[in-house]
Parts: sequence; structure tokens; C-alpha cells
Amino acid sequence: MIRITFLGTSAAAPTVTRSLPAIALKREGVLTLFDCGEGTQRQMMRYGTGFDVSDVFFTHLHADHFLGIIGFVRTLAMAERAQPMNLYCPKGTARILEQAIRLGILDDRIFPIEIHELAPGSAVARDGYEVRAFEVQHKRPALGYALVEPSRPGKFDVERAAKLGIPSGPLFGQLQKGSAVTLEDGRTILPSEVVGPPRRGRRIVISGDTIPCEATAEASRSADLLIHEATFGDDDVVRARQTFHSTAAQAAEIARRAQARRLVLTHFSNRYANAPGILLRQARPIFPGVEAARDGMTIDIPLPDEPEQPPKNAQD
Ligand SMILES: [Zn+2]
Ligand SMILES: [Zn+2]
Repeated sequence: MIRITFLGTSAAAPTVTRSLPAIALKREGVLTLFDCGEGTQRQMMRYGTGFDVSDVFFTHLHADHFLGIIGFVRTLAMAERAQPMNLYCPKGTARILEQAIRLGILDDRIFPIEIHELAPGSAVARDGYEVRAFEVQHKRPALGYALVEPSRPGKFDVERAAKLGIPSGPLFGQLQKGSAVTLEDGRTILPSEVVGPPRRGRRIVISGDTIPCEATAEASRSADLLIHEATFGDDDVVRARQTFHSTAAQAAEIARRAQARRLVLTHFSNRYANAPGILLRQARPIFPGVEAARDGMTIDIPLPDEPEQPPKNAQD
């Protein structure tokens, strides 16, 4: 299971009900953070994500997206954390993070922290998935991230295997892995006789702060979930452009073109923080299932059983 918890859904400044940007993603017990705005550690307590983070991916180094790392690291150091932590940020921004981390350190009691700059197109490989960085268009170097799993072997048809007289045991495993097996009576069984087509892995995309851009649409093809910023509504389309942000309708258009399976809007300007319904009304004609994130909202994405399919062409 992958569980996503929205820890902060406000843009620029917090409100009473919305903290600054941070998203927790837990996959098979491994907790990853995307951005770490001011107040993130308290939100993690409130929503029960735990503190056991090994990777933090920063979309960009605007203050609202990273100030929370200072206090978080300090708390972890005081709790005598020993495991290392990896921080990832766009190319050319590591220095800012280094300074922030130094601010949070009381003395030499600090666990190992490694800061890595990511170039657009690079990926961080982990057990069973990778996190790919893609370049988005914001006021300073900024990345979107796609968590991508490889496809899994198809479903093993136990009933059919029994009918074919295959004894249960190691032969099942060999067939599942794609090797043909020979039975004692000399018959050869091909994997395709008992194993379904490969099943697709999951894809979860986080846009970060950006104007609507092709790279996000490209990364979000058939994504299980696209989390796209929607700082503004239609009335502020000019302002969105000037500040390198998106409107809800623009985010919906990206999701529609990418044929994403699910779209959740976040990073709301204070003007819309109490009324995300306005943004949903503007986005819905373009992407009917669109949702608005709120702090503490969780989304579970189970392993899909569907076979892998090449994404259909985008309808422009
Ligand atoms: Zn922001
Ligand atoms: Zn920003």
C-alpha cells in the first residue's frame, strides 16, 4: 500500500487550517517527504506519520517549502537519531539547504545528512521504485517528482496450473518468473499458459510550484495520482503567470491531457484557502473527478491488478 498524507496545503503563508507545503508518502513502511514547510514536524505528529524519514525531496528552495527542515532536524538530533538522511534539491540550491541544516544543529550531536542536487531527468533508485525528477517552470530552479514502480509479473492462475497437472511448489515460482518448466511426464509448460500479462506499477506525480508545463503532463501520463499546485483561480490568471504558478483550471488541463487517473489540487493562496470549492468548480468541467487537498487528508493507492498498457495518445 502507498499512503499519502497532506501535511500542509497552503501557499506562501500558513492559515489557521492550512500549514505550509509538505507531503508524506509511506510505501511499505518507508516514509518519504516531499517538501518540508514550516510546521511540518508538528503536522507529522498530528497526523501520525511517524518521524522515520530517510529521504526528503525538495521541489525548490522557496522558504515556504523548506523552513520546516531546520526544526525537524533539530528535533531528530535531540532524539539521538542515528540513521542517515538524504535531502534532494534542484541543481544549484544545495548551499541554501546546508545553511538551513546548520541553523538547526545545537552542537556536534547530529546524524549524517547528505545533500544531493538533482538534475532534471535524473532519478533516485530505491528498493521497488524510483523517484524521477523533472524540470518545471517556476521563479527559481524547481523540480516536479514522479514516484514510479516497475511493472510486476502477471497473476498466477493456480486453478489452471492444477488442471494442467503442475505440482505446486518451486515450479510455480519458475513459471511466475517467466521460465518454461518441464513436468515429469515430459510435457513443457510455458509461463503464458498459467501467468497473466504483466501488471502495471504505480505512478504518483507531484508538480511542485510551476506554471502549467509540458514536463508535468509528460511525467503524469496515466498516473495513478497527480498532485498539482493550484495557487489561484480564474480571476488571478494574470497573477498566476507573473508569479509562475498555476490556476486550478490549468492544473485540470494538465491532468486531462496526461489522462491521469486522479487529480488532487493543493498549494492554495490564502484567498482561496477557505473556499477551495471555487477552484473545484473551475476545474471540474475539465477534469470531473478533481479534488482539493486539506491538511491531514490521506489517499491510499493499492497495487493495481490491471495489465500494463502503453498510454493512449493524449487528446489535445
Ligand atoms: Zn510555494
Ligand atoms: Zn515557490
